[in-house]
This record gives sequence, structure tokens and C-alpha cells, in this order.
Amino acid sequence: MERVLLLGCTGSIGLQTIDLVYEAEKDFHIVYVTLFSNIDILEKELHKLPYLEKVGIQNPLKAQEFADKHPELQVILTTDDVNVVLAGDENYSKAVNAITGAAGFSVSMKVLEMDKDLCLANKESLVIGGQLIKEQLKKSGRLFPIDSEHVALAKLFKNANRDEIKRVIITASGGSLRDTPVEEYKNVTLEKVLKHPTWNMGVRITVDSATMVNKGFEFIEACYLYDWPIENISPLINDESRIHSALEFKDNSYLFEVGPSDMKVPISYALNETRRVEANYKSVDFDKKCSLNFRKFDYDKYPLFNLVLETFKRGGTAMAFLNAVDEEAIKYFAEKKLTYTEMIEFIKFMVKEELVTFDKVDKGTILLTDQMARKLVHAELD
Ligand code: NAD
Ligand code: MG
Repeated sequence: MERVLLLGCTGSIGLQTIDLVYEAEKDFHIVYVTLFSNIDILEKELHKLPYLEKVGIQNPLKAQEFADKHPELQVILTTDDVNVVLAGDENYSKAVNAITGAAGFSVSMKVLEMDKDLCLANKESLVIGGQLIKEQLKKSGRLFPIDSEHVALAKLFKNANRDEIKRVIITASGGSLRDTPVEEYKNVTLEKVLKHPTWNMGVRITVDSATMVNKGFEFIEACYLYDWPIENISPLINDESRIHSALEFKDNSYLFEVGPSDMKVPISYALNETRRVEANYKSVDFDKKCSLNFRKFDYDKYPLFNLVLETFKRGGTAMAFLNAVDEEAIKYFAEKKLTYTEMIEFIKFMVKEELVTFDKVDKGTILLTDQMARKLVHAELD
């Protein structure tokens, strides 16, 4: 029996993990969960968590409130990072990291240091700390990605001879503004940006899908996960999000990974250590009317995409800076204190003019860069 630590249990990936384990994965028990503060959501999920033992809630007031109500559960009461505290517990075998943002990095490192399996949805862990994660993986722990494109690539690489590959293609939906002309971006509303055409995800990744920061992050993830040069990856838009990535070969033939737009597929693939297991997934039914439409990637529409790739190539802790600026700027956009175009211009300005980066990459410099970036954002915008 696998004992699972679910980090970020109240978000989009967290809730889908709870459903999947409850409905289909009988060999897994979710024994520990963490969340930031939304105890009402956790309360509603408790009936699907029969094996729950320990709960980490980052907000101390909410943690106390939940602890008072649930004496049957062990609630971690601390001002430290509850994720890292629970990940330091010996008594679990796999962690699913479904936290959003840089907050997921330290705990990813901790899980690997504890020599446990890390099922990783939190792409920021690799984006800001890929080098350290790779070094740690040589010593202990195992990593199974959850991002749909990277699970698709894992499946594709299994069926390919690397020497025969011409390029890797990472697909994208195009995000919520794919049908909006650039000239109309200045009038675009928050509500429109948050209405993703094919996926139902958290706020940060939904905005990042509109700007394509998310796709830039996924290029970086692929580069670390599969030792593939970033210059040899191309983006392609598939409207239906049914193609999750592709390989083009030297003989001009392609291998596409096609499947439903259902995150339960990659979550299950990661939990089951790259085995395909039956569950109640959505389906792609080619017997019925089922289309596949493509668009060329329009670089002018997504200026932040190139900014991400250029910043990654600078090395050091530059990506920790960009990630923190992006995360903070999105909060201002979500509070309607910045318009969509102001947010994009602000991120460009900060990364081009105010970049703080350390050449030496360790946990300390990554976290320091992250804090400095957030401080600079507040100094500019508050
Ligand atoms: P979300 O905003 O819906 O959920 C985030 C979760 O993280 C919540 O449970 C929140 O309570 C928790 N959290 C935030 N800060 C925390 C902290 N300091 N301590 C404990 N918990 C904390 O986000 P999401 O859409 O589920 O995305 C999660 C991660 O997965 C992101 O890195 C995202 O890029 C990645 N991802 C998501 C999808 C998707 O379909 N949603 C797909 C691929 C990758
Ligand atoms: Mg993805």
C-alpha cells in the first residue's frame, strides 16, 4: 500500500488527485495533506479521505480553527513551512506536489532528500531550481512529472530512438485569448482571461496560459526532465488540447500523443510510476465527430514567451526572479489593480530593467532572489 502526501490538496490538481485515488486507485491511501488556507474546501473533501492522519495548513489561524473542529486528525501547528514539515516525516512513500508557485520548490527538494517519490505538478520547482533537483536526483528520490505535455513526452520517448528525432514539439491550447486580436488586448477583462478554452485550472496557470509564460516554463521543464536542448523544442497550437506533445523524426514522420484533455491521465501515470491504468477518464472518441485543429504559434501575440526563454539562457537565479515577478504581477491583475496589457508591460520592464540574479545557484540564492523580486514588485506597484 502506497502512503501518499498530497501537497496543495484544495486546488485544481489536488482535488483531481483526491477524486482519482478515491474512485480508482485502491493501492493508494492519502494519509497527509497540505493547503494554504481554504479549510472549507478541505471540509467538503474529508469523506473522500478515509485514511487521512495529518493535515498541514499554512495559515496559522485557519490551522487552529480546523484543529479545534477535528480532534481526530493531527493538525500541524507551526509557523514554519508546513509542507516541508510533513515531507520530513518518514511515514509516507510518495508525494504529489500540487502547490502553485515558488512555494512548491523547497518541499520538492525535501521529498527528494527524504529519498521518496515526487509526483510533480508544481512546474515552478524545475523552473527555478531545475539544476538542484537534478543534482539531488543523482543522490536520492525519484521524480515523475504530472504536467500533461511532459507525461506525453515520457510516453513518446519510450517509443523512439533519440538519435532519430529531429525536434520535440510541445503543444499548447493557445490560452483564453487565442481568438482575440492583439489590438484588443488593452480592453480585455479579467473574466475573459480566466475563461480557459479547454482546461479548468488555478488562476496563476490560467493567466500564464494566456501569456504563454506557462509554455516557456514547460520548455524549461522538458529540458531538465529529458536532457533535451531548449533550442530544439518548438511550440504548436492544438485547439482541442487532445494532442499533448509530439516528436518529429529525421524522415519527416511524426509521433503524436493523443488523449483526452483530462489531468487524471497524467496524475495516474505519475502515481503508477509510468504505468497506464484504467480509470474513469474523459475520452477522445474518433468514431464520433472528433476534430484536430492546429494553428501556427504567433510569437507577436505572446511576447512573454520569448522573455522566458531568453531569461532561462542567462542562467544563475534569473528564472527565480522572473517567476516571482510573474506570480506577483498576476496577483495585481487578479485584484484588478493592473490591466492585462499593463501586467505584461510590467513583467517585461522588471525582467529587462530590474533583474536581480546570482551566478551561484543554491537553495539560499534561489529563495533570496525570489524575495528580492517580490519586494521590488511591491515597491513599484504599492
Ligand atoms: P491551484 O491554484 O488550483 O491550487 C494550488 C494549491 O496550492 C491550493 O491547494 C493551495 O491551497 C495550495 N498552496 C498554495 N500555496 C501553498 C503553501 N504555501 N502551502 C501549502 N499549500 C499551498 O493550482 P493548480 O491549477 O492546481 O496548479 C498547481 C500546480 O500544478 C502549478 O504549479 C501548476 O502550474 C501545475 N499544473 C496545473 C495543471 C492544471 O490543470 N491545473 C496542469 C499542469 C500543471
Ligand atoms: Mg501543461
